[in-house]
Amino acid sequence: MFLENAIRKGWIEVICGSMFSGKTEELIRRLKRAQFANQKVEIFKPRIDVRYSEEEVVSHDANAIRSTPVESPQNILLMTSEVDVVGIDEAQFFDASIVDVCRQLADSGVRVIVAGLDMDYTGRPFGSMPALMATAEYVTKVHAICVRCGNLAHHSHRLTADETQVMLGAHETYEPICRHCFAELRRQEAQSAPQTDPHPHTPPHHETK
Ligand code: ZN
Repeated sequence: MFLENAIRKGWIEVICGSMFSGKTEELIRRLKRAQFANQKVEIFKPRIDVRYSEEEVVSHDANAIRSTPVESPQNILLMTSEVDVVGIDEAQFFDASIVDVCRQLADSGVRVIVAGLDMDYTGRPFGSMPALMATAEYVTKVHAICVRCGNLAHHSHRLTADETQVMLGAHETYEPICRHCFAELRRQEAQSAPQTDPHPHTPPHHETK
């Protein structure tokens, strides 16, 4: 468990992992501890994430805490005067300036807690999360359980054929799976993918799930 070690104020914490790994729950846990200590806490998320509520950071178990949706990371700087702790959820959806905004906040004495997906559904590092992890003092990787084998899950496997990187959803569109089940799926996909197609009019292959 992460324990604060506050000798001097101002640092960056990153909480990352796959879908259903408990990132937001861990963010909320840390923010509530700070609130109990009478610290002034503000929470932000990108406006893109409107799955549940416009005004709350909501984890999948509905353990909610009020937050402000913002268009751009710069807006966070405008809304955080005299704040002790800033929480940022779904940070992978912010543009690259989120890294500098977090640095400015931490430099000015604010504790910054950033939660986000470390990888997209193809297994590539997601948005600015790698840069945030590199510049943070503390990085916590949290894990879901693989729905296929029970190992620690590392990937968010998308259950639909949509190929856009930003696709919001929960149980109906993603499942947490481990490295080995992810690699096995990749092997199966590679095997069933059409080679150079000799019949250009054949309909494209669709996987049935
Ligand atoms: Zn597995």
